[in-house]
Amino acid sequence: MSIALPSFIETYLTPEEITKLQKKKKALHTEEYKHLMLVRLSHDYRGYPRGTVFHEHGIITGYPRILRVLHLENGIKRYCKGSFFVEEKVDGYNARIALIKGNAIAVTRGGFICPFTTRRIADMIDLNFFDLNPGYVICGEVVGPGSPYNTEAIPYIEKDVVFFAFDLMDESGRKLSSEERHRVLEPFNIQQVRRWGPFSTSDMDAIKSVILELERDGREGVVIKPLLDKKPIKYVTLSSCLRDLQAACGLMAEIPAGFYIQRILRAIFFCHEFDISLSEDYLLESARALYLLPQRVVEAVAEGENVREKFKVNVREKDAIYGLLEHLTRSGLSTKLISLEKTNDYYSAKFHRIYSKATREIRQRLMGHGFFD
Ligand code: ATP
Repeated sequence: MSIALPSFIETYLTPEEITKLQKKKKALHTEEYKHLMLVRLSHDYRGYPRGTVFHEHGIITGYPRILRVLHLENGIKRYCKGSFFVEEKVDGYNARIALIKGNAIAVTRGGFICPFTTRRIADMIDLNFFDLNPGYVICGEVVGPGSPYNTEAIPYIEKDVVFFAFDLMDESGRKLSSEERHRVLEPFNIQQVRRWGPFSTSDMDAIKSVILELERDGREGVVIKPLLDKKPIKYVTLSSCLRDLQAACGLMAEIPAGFYIQRILRAIFFCHEFDISLSEDYLLESARALYLLPQRVVEAVAEGENVREKFKVNVREKDAIYGLLEHLTRSGLSTKLISLEKTNDYYSAKFHRIYSKATREIRQRLMGHGFFD
């Protein structure tokens, strides 16, 4: 059932804009959470990115998209004219944390309240931060094998999830500079992504050695953030391309082909710029991912199973896991709870994400149905 739009939305949008947004795209969605009314924007509009959440006491601005470059040096020269920091790009899922009327909430990139992240906020950051900085929004990545959204291997986090802050927005939605962010977050020991610099375009050797260090350590890559109000760019390591393939090849019938081509191209451009030849091992592992993982999935479907991924998450209260599964279902995903066990302070839940479209498609191919390609 849809809820009527609350009147505070007119602080941000004119009545004409609201009508236009609702008529054309149905882009404003009202939700109630613990007596708070929230309005989620599901498309970019004016200065507001998709995933912006408006509420009675302020705004949680959407996290903007980041331009990718495949040639690091030329990308930096093209987009970063002044000084910039090189920050580690960590590989998990994006979460924006805010405190509204005493309620700490974490919203996903799309602007939905994530029941899992929301119920784990107190484990990840010191909430006293908001006493001194009311209305601020901490943007970061939730990373680790206990993520309910990611299946990539994270070589640097052994268990559960960890939060790494990488941006901070003030009450007006303005992003603070990297310097300001460090100054404001540090007193609360809120963990931030690693950063190097400030650099300028004449420091290319130092920047490239950071990339090679990240490559050696199995890290994802970097986001380059200009000191002045310019847009950031992102660049990933060679090893992250392989880890992406290994995580996604089992879902070949579900994920658009462009995903795989993009990883291959990123790897090729990396080798070109860093003058690296792909090792036999890298080639073998890529081929294994591209062929053996989908092969295993086809065999499993032939034996009557579904295409699925396994997740294991820790929650403090049982109902947080039901909330998470409901949230995934609302986002159009099928899930199945496998087990829920109490261990010390946490409930450890195992669940499957089930891919019905991929299962159906593979089943039809196995039954000899034809298709145009
Ligand atoms: P996008 O929407 O930006 O095109 P995406 O959602 O496909 O991209 P990625 O390609 O992984 O995601 O890159 C952007 C994401 O990287 C950000 O949304 C953020 O969640 C994550 N990230 C990790 N580390 C950082 C960092 N240091 N600075 C900014 N973002 C970071």
